[in-house]
Amino acid sequence: MKNVPKTLNVIVMDPSQDKEVTIGKYKVKVIRSLCISAAACVGVSPATFTLDEEKKAVITEGSTDTPENILLAAQACPTQAIVVIDTESGKQIWPV
Ligand code: SF4
Repeated sequence: MKNVPKTLNVIVMDPSQDKEVTIGKYKVKVIRSLCISAAACVGVSPATFTLDEEKKAVITEGSTDTPENILLAAQACPTQAIVVIDTESGKQIWPV
């Protein structure tokens, strides 16, 4: 066989390791393996989302942004990397 690498490094992201943060009536989580660093979430809700050193979105605990705006930020993500869950009902609000 030609041109076949002898070793193949595969990074597997474990979605269960994505941190869930409760902000007001929502639990919010960024699925890091889906985040493409577009920063749309940061643009809509800079109080809630920032990019870390890997250019992945992270959630600011204690964000005082409104639930409506946090949901808008999640909906602005082009890869649906932000999951929003209603803490009362336990239902996933976004993505639907
Ligand atoms: S909008 Fe989505 S892809 Fe872009 S930084 Fe935020 S979570 Fe990541």
